[in-house]
Amino acid sequence: MKTAFTMDDLPLWPQSYPPDGYTAQGIVRAIQDGLAQHGISGVYAFANSWAIDKHPEFADILDDWVAAGHHIANHTHAHQQLPDINAAAFIADIAEGERKLARWLNKAPRKLFRHPLCHWGETATKLAAVNAYLADIGATPVDVTSWCYEWTWNRAYRAARDAGDRKAEIYVKDSFLTFSLAQLMFDQAAAKAWFGQDITAITLGHNVPFFADVAADYFGRLIDAGVMFVALEDALVAPVQSAVGSVVSDKFLVLQQKLADAAGRPTPQIVPECQEMFARIKAMAGDLTV
Ligand SMILES: [Zn+2]
Repeated sequence: MKTAFTMDDLPLWPQSYPPDGYTAQGIVRAIQDGLAQHGISGVYAFANSWAIDKHPEFADILDDWVAAGHHIANHTHAHQQLPDINAAAFIADIAEGERKLARWLNKAPRKLFRHPLCHWGETATKLAAVNAYLADIGATPVDVTSWCYEWTWNRAYRAARDAGDRKAEIYVKDSFLTFSLAQLMFDQAAAKAWFGQDITAITLGHNVPFFADVAADYFGRLIDAGVMFVALEDALVAPVQSAVGSVVSDKFLVLQQKLADAAGRPTPQIVPECQEMFARIKAMAGDLTV
């Protein structure tokens, strides 16, 4: 199968500053190294500009990303979620991202946009207003067909490290490599069932400490399983691309799940054979929020 891997939330994940032992620069650099080790290039990172306002030195992270052969796209300025604000405020946030990220956006082959939490609009009016604005500025909205919940593993990893529990830390890493592959295959089968044909997947990672530590192994595990990493442009075709922004939804779901849910036929989010593992990781994460 083929997938276009993407990143969200460069240069700094909105919910957190890196814990001791990590830096925002180091996290992204480790992910870049993992990509380079496996010959994966041209990866679009959907970026926010709020962190650069606050920490101008984080501009180097985006410079490095582009210098390494990858691309930057708009993920709004402040990462506000569409259900929390009105369409005009959301559009203003996109516009601010366009202005503040312009020096990197202009270097990318395509002008792309990703909605925070992949929320397209929970009312028909908001959906139409945002879609119209994106069309107006010539931006293509990009969704996700499979994500691997590395933000939940990140919390379990942090809890294990904070507790000095080396065995738990190893379990967190090993279980993620099993889960992420199984979840991708599950989402791919669900997408094929929904669209009636095999599709090029769009996968997602975030710049969190856990993903930085596991990225090279994650890409390697997928490649060993026969996954081919391709350019995102190859995935932005019908029937996948024509479905993006096509339904009213306030759910945090990948593309085919949003469509199925809006059609009144919701599907499972987590690969069935790993539900116990996922529950264990959530329990290990406890009440950590980042
Ligand atoms: Zn995001």
